[in-house]
Amino acid sequence: MREDIRAGVSNLKMLINGQGVTSAQNLEVINPCNEEIVAQVPDATVTDLDQAITAAKSALVGWSDDEALRKSVLLSIASVIHENQEALARALSLETGLPLANTKDEVGMAAYFFKYRSKTVVPVDIIHDDERQRVQVVRKPVGVVGAIIPWNAPMMIASEKISTAFAAGNTVVLKTSPLAPLALLLLGQLLADKVPAGVLNILSGGDVIGKQMVADPRIGMISFTGSTEAGKAIMASGGATLKRLSLELGGNDPAIVLPDANPKKVASKLFWGAFYRSGQICAAIKRVYAHESMYDELVAAMAQLAAKTTPADAFDEGALIGPLANREQFEKVKALLERAEAEGGRVAAGGKALDQSGYYLQPTIVSHVDASNPLVREEQFGPLLPIIQYTNIDDAIAQANDTDYGLGASVWSDDLEQAEAVAACLQAGSVWVNRHGIVMPDIPFGGFKHSGLGRANGDVGLDAYSELQTVSIAKPKPAEA
Ligand code: NAD
Repeated sequence: MREDIRAGVSNLKMLINGQGVTSAQNLEVINPCNEEIVAQVPDATVTDLDQAITAAKSALVGWSDDEALRKSVLLSIASVIHENQEALARALSLETGLPLANTKDEVGMAAYFFKYRSKTVVPVDIIHDDERQRVQVVRKPVGVVGAIIPWNAPMMIASEKISTAFAAGNTVVLKTSPLAPLALLLLGQLLADKVPAGVLNILSGGDVIGKQMVADPRIGMISFTGSTEAGKAIMASGGATLKRLSLELGGNDPAIVLPDANPKKVASKLFWGAFYRSGQICAAIKRVYAHESMYDELVAAMAQLAAKTTPADAFDEGALIGPLANREQFEKVKALLERAEAEGGRVAAGGKALDQSGYYLQPTIVSHVDASNPLVREEQFGPLLPIIQYTNIDDAIAQANDTDYGLGASVWSDDLEQAEAVAACLQAGSVWVNRHGIVMPDIPFGGFKHSGLGRANGDVGLDAYSELQTVSIAKPKPAEA
């Protein structure tokens, strides 16, 4: 089985101008479930990038002004993804360690993004249309969009970017994460004869190529998803060519549990809001604030769920969570755990790495940790959750907002009116009540503060990939007509 899966991702090439392309150098891809090298992929050079941008620029002609062609291509991409769901999910599981059930869902969502955008009609806003004038706002493509992708959900994130860029009439040069290039290179291979040459170019490479993309004046917009640190660097260097930017960055989402919430009822949703995909989601629950009246009961219920969720190999039947996706992340999460324990945090469940190869850490609940601890203040991005006790709701809101992040936040209660009132006080791009982390192609998504710039998805997401042009026409006076 594993050999079959590896064979499916051997000799993958980059997609440049409709052709499969190797590079002068290679990157190794590691399976986080056993730390074996599972594939070598091209490591894009500056020459590869130059060819991709040149191709993307020429491909704008005949693409930007043909909405019918773009719709049919978007629909055919959705079908290709759907037909190859199993192969794409396997590649994704192999490189991220995510259970196959999770990656099948991700690939399914990716197809859905393309289907959704195949129905997008680029709108025209009529501001005035009377006897004196017609003033309208039309949307023009930005040109070549540079898409830069992280390792944690590459198929879904790339699909949001490619589908929206295409719907708005742009062409795309996409760079995968060096840690998770397989599924996207496979996608490129599957799409080579489905998308006009040059319209979509997919490169695998590291940060250096990302920086070159940001610096290149032929790229009009950078659509970036990744860490806040890299987002800030991109914003600073993009200034030189006044890049249009979409920045989807890190998060440290709080979940506030109100006193009336039933701990047994909310525990499972809170648990999976934090531990789905081993917590490696930008909008996962990363801190829980529980009222003192039910704090112990909630910690116990969450600990019970953590204790019975053992991480497993991505390809094991019934695996619910896998390992961390790479060594760097594994070490970072372990260090946060050690520091939290050293500074008084109590491990209510989990707390150990598995004694085997692979980056496995038990799902871990930490109670009684101080609000100043890095586990509360930083983005852990792993299966490690602090639960913090509060007495007064205003204090819980203040603590939830006391961060530079502002991606998502949630409130948990049976009293929807009160929950909505608390949600209204939270500084985050998405606030949820009795749910967390819902991302859909028609629902705007993005961050306050250092969690990002702009919004993806929905109509506002389309505008992010467009230049808005105001067309103002004076109509002749009746006597002049
Ligand atoms: P990362 O920032 O290290 O890398 C992301 C991508 O950017 C990679 O392709 C990398 O090669 C490239 N890159 C890094 N520095 C660059 C630079 N200066 N210029 C151009 N490109 C550069 O992030 P990661 O570790 O791959 O992903 C995890 C992070 O992504 C977490 O912080 C997570 O919260 C965030 N994330 C955010 C969202 C969202 O929608 N807000 C979604 C998923 C992940």
